Amino acid sequence: MATTSPWPDVLQAIYADMVMRAAHLEPLEPYRHHNRPWASRCMRCGRIVRPRYRQIRDGWGGCRHCAAVARNAAARAARTNNSAPPARTAPTEEDTTC
Ligand SMILES: [Zn+2]
Repeated sequence: MATTSPWPDVLQAIYADMVMRAAHLEPLEPYRHHNRPWASRCMRCGRIVRPRYRQIRDGWGGCRHCAAVARNAAARAARTNNSAPPARTAPTEEDTTC
């Protein structure tokens, strides 16, 4: 017969909360399961996202909106390096919100 102690779950929830915050996400509801969408607010852009804790823990990154901005920035940098003169574009909304 298995003994049930609340402590492992409590510690897991505290640890999961810390991992989320390290990924710039503020959990909006209690931790339930590593493979369940977890409503959180991005501390960079303020958007509400629902990543799975498993994805954050495994290093997939936090907010998908901010990740898209990072990809766009990388693509712009690549274009700048490969073309002369560099293309100048006006800042988009995504550039300024994240
Ligand atoms: Zn974000």
